[in-house]
Amino acid sequence: MGVRAEVNNHITERHFLKQSFYDLNHTDLEMVLHQNDLNHSAAAILFNWHYKKKEKAQCYEKMAKGSLAFFQNNFDFSLPEIDTVHESEDRTVKFLFRLQDNHRIETVLIPFHNKYSICLSSQVGCAMNCSFCSTGTQGLTRNLATSEIVGQFLQAWRWLAKNRPGEERILNIVFMGQGEPLHNFDAVKKACEIFLSKHGTSIGVQKITVSTAGYIPGLKRWSQETPGVNLALSLHSPFEEKRNELMPINIKYPLDEVLTCIDQIPLHKKQFITYEYILIKDFNDSPDDAQELGTILAGKSAYINLIPFNAFPGSHYQRPNMEKIEKFKEVLDTFKIPTLIRSAKGDDVLAACGQLNSKN
Ligand code: SAH
Repeated sequence: MGVRAEVNNHITERHFLKQSFYDLNHTDLEMVLHQNDLNHSAAAILFNWHYKKKEKAQCYEKMAKGSLAFFQNNFDFSLPEIDTVHESEDRTVKFLFRLQDNHRIETVLIPFHNKYSICLSSQVGCAMNCSFCSTGTQGLTRNLATSEIVGQFLQAWRWLAKNRPGEERILNIVFMGQGEPLHNFDAVKKACEIFLSKHGTSIGVQKITVSTAGYIPGLKRWSQETPGVNLALSLHSPFEEKRNELMPINIKYPLDEVLTCIDQIPLHKKQFITYEYILIKDFNDSPDDAQELGTILAGKSAYINLIPFNAFPGSHYQRPNMEKIEKFKEVLDTFKIPTLIRSAKGDDVLAACGQLNSKN
């Protein structure tokens, strides 16, 4: 044990001396090249190599020897290590990653027709402390760096290429894993820029969704700094007292202020805000709850995701039965708000929403 810890500390120190390549967006990379009198065309080659998974040899050929040596000497190319992989019966995959300082985070690949959505973590733990969420019980340890966010995607992609060849297509990215993405704004923003870059993974802007508990300082920056990326709000109750109980952040940033802030975000014609609503038995699942939810969202470019509560070890809430869930949706239908009942994927391996807890 002692030797292992020593080795790990050594690795950690060594890596922390170098800048991670995966912390840089394409513009940063061009700037680094420029500042070091190297040809800026290497930026596109490096992005292609690392994010489009082009052959290393091909890229070596295209790049000037000096630029290649510069990057090899000055940058760290390591990624979060896969610690454990759980494959669910429905083909959902949950990864437990080990970071360089030995903290752990989880990432989930959710299948749809041989393609995947990826659910990324943005923090180690979470400061929001929502009463229905397993991650909330962990508290916040630290923010993730951009490289650790981008690294989850790249490692999951590599795992698919190796273990499910032909299926390595990750078309949607949702920031619904551990953490509050708007509480780690800069790193999440930069990760989005890398995902969107046409030189890199080239993910469509409408294919990325950031989910927030309603952290207003982040929301205020959102519309200015990340135009086009989708936003989801974890709403969970239209009533102040109940929302305070579920999400302590509501005491500091109340729902009406959050909604006002969201209303100011300019949306494209076909764009809408997703409102997530966990259905908890005998707590927020009555027709009155649905009626009030419909009332506050009516007339907005809204889409509602109803998420039947997913249990986790130690949770005291329960999931309502299907009849109750459908009744809730029927009330929302009268407001003509598109509403989807989300089926839980991966709950046999605790990979569903709210079940991520890298301390278990
Ligand atoms: N902090 C962000 C993102 C993480 S949670 C946020 O609050 O939106 C991602 C989604 O999972 C949120 O809608 C969250 O409310 C939901 N969720 C958390 N715990 C859950 C549980 N036990 N069952 C079902 N959904 C849950």
